[in-house]
Amino acid sequence: MGVGCGAARTRRWIADEERREAERRAGAARRPPAPEWLIERGLDRNNLVAVHTGECWDPGKRVRPVTRAQAIEALRHQVPACSKCRPDTALGIEA
Ligand SMILES: [Zn+2]
Repeated sequence: MGVGCGAARTRRWIADEERREAERRAGAARRPPAPEWLIERGLDRNNLVAVHTGECWDPGKRVRPVTRAQAIEALRHQVPACSKCRPDTALGIEA
């Protein structure tokens, strides 16, 4: 003990903080991931304009997350597949 005492306490404090930070990050990782599929609506709520993958870089403003089954269903009901992210290809559906 002696001179190094304060530094050791500081290191321990930093280690604690780092552990808490790591736990925060692990908690964030446990949150549900971004949706895999998106459906884009038109101005009319009932008008579906496109199906997107969750990775689409241009999904439009009025999208909502849907399940894979819902995305397949939409494509089968003539909702167009986005031409940028090709969800029909990702889902194995022939357009
Ligand atoms: Zn798209």
